[in-house]
Amino acid sequence: MDFDTRCVHAGESPDPTTGAHGTPMYQNVTYAFDSYEQVAAMRAGERPHFTYSPRGNPTVRCLEVKIADLEGAETCLALNSGMAAISSAILGVVSGGGHIIGSRFLYDNTRNLLQHELPQYGATASLVDLTDEEQIAAAVTPNSRAIYAEAFSNPHLHVLDIARLSEIARRHHLLLIVDNTFLSPALYRPIEHGADLVVHSATKYLSGHGQIQAGVVSGSLQLITPMRERAMLLGNHLSPFAAWVLLSGIHTLPLRISRHCENAMALARLLAAHPAVDAVNYPGLAQDPDHDTAISILPVGGPGFGGMISFTLGDEQARARFINALELCTIAVSLGDCTTLVWPWHTEGLIRVSTGIEATQDLEKDFSTALAACLNAEALM
Ligand code: PLP
Repeated sequence: MDFDTRCVHAGESPDPTTGAHGTPMYQNVTYAFDSYEQVAAMRAGERPHFTYSPRGNPTVRCLEVKIADLEGAETCLALNSGMAAISSAILGVVSGGGHIIGSRFLYDNTRNLLQHELPQYGATASLVDLTDEEQIAAAVTPNSRAIYAEAFSNPHLHVLDIARLSEIARRHHLLLIVDNTFLSPALYRPIEHGADLVVHSATKYLSGHGQIQAGVVSGSLQLITPMRERAMLLGNHLSPFAAWVLLSGIHTLPLRISRHCENAMALARLLAAHPAVDAVNYPGLAQDPDHDTAISILPVGGPGFGGMISFTLGDEQARARFINALELCTIAVSLGDCTTLVWPWHTEGLIRVSTGIEATQDLEKDFSTALAACLNAEALM
């Protein structure tokens, strides 16, 4: 069935005992057995039975089946944050002193995990320009296990050709792990392009409403099963409540993503044409250096280039004037919410925008007014 239909139906059906329509939230920790024999049959693998929610919960299981279906993966593991999904994927491949070749352009916490935390556990990472095959080849060591990439990077919006990276990874006998948070499976599905593991901060577009923290890692049973066991030991499993909220969020993912894309394209064009703005990072713009790569990896006739933009605008005073003049948009970190979130990045004078699903003309008006406030203040100086 079509992706949009699967967002609604995959992994879910009316509750077999009550007929309840809509997956119930199984907000319980333990599961009752009828008899000693039933326990023995479960242990022998003859009759599956839930035992303890950290090992498996029916609501969380529905979510995992849905995500695996949407990603085109054999299985999925749901965890309690995006960083839990990322650390599980990375620890899963580096155990015993492995080495990761990561992109130079990664979400800060992922970069810190690779550069500063891994060495404390006897593993290492090299960060290179993943568009440069020679740099990748030069970074490979006998302990290298995987390449780690963001398909659209946070916050620079650099685009990576995942199919090409997967060929390079295969040539060097490495796995390819892709963080696809910025795009969501509605825009791009890395496993279809050769990635071995795909991770998401499900806190963002998958949830869509900024109410829960969650992460998902999808891939083969062979790779995910040990991670599931480790999640039991690390205690970073997802709560049934967060899974239940996520299931509802995913029902509307394709509709939301279309509007996010529309709004981002409109705001990126407005920013790029404005005299107060120095530079705009949005792969949907024809003049963006990563536009051609974005066109080549995203589906033809698809909803667009995602909802994330970053841009630079004068000095710190100008940035403050812009941010303070916004009335509709919220000054906040995170992304993928229904509300447009604008955040002054802590480096490079960037302002990051996560476009929401408001009416485009209202966002354009808010941005135009705030940009005019910058120009007017400059003219008075
Ligand atoms: N990956 C990316 C690209 C992110 O932007 C974030 C958070 O902003 C994460 C992972 C981490 O997600 P979480 O905050 O759910 O741990």
